[in-house]
Amino acid sequence: MEYKYFSRHGDPNIACRCGCGLSIEDMDRTFMTRIDVARQIANIPFIIISGIRCPAHNNNVSTTGFDGPHTTGQALDIFVRNSNERYIIRRVLIMLGFNRFGTAETFLHVDSSTDHPKNVEWLY
Ligand SMILES: [Zn+2]
Repeated sequence: MEYKYFSRHGDPNIACRCGCGLSIEDMDRTFMTRIDVARQIANIPFIIISGIRCPAHNNNVSTTGFDGPHTTGQALDIFVRNSNERYIIRRVLIMLGFNRFGTAETFLHVDSSTDHPKNVEWLY
């Protein structure tokens, strides 16, 4: 399966950072397809800083422990350079029905976990 804007080669940051081998191919395909559509509509680069994580790596880098949204392949952290990019990306994602966001100074987390509350925005 190919995405228009994301490829295994072009987006190594979607892979698990621990080197375990999980990659974009382990991302949830429905989630990634929706992100691909969002990227097209937003018409600005989506620079991914975190994607799939194995449980062990997630436990190392996140307070969500061994089973956070990133471990399901239904979560991404998207780098944002400024408030305008954050606004554009979030607006498109909301338009497409995403309803879980985490906001940090330099990135926007989005996920489509069904194991966690929807209609939430948290801060890091
Ligand atoms: Zn890993």
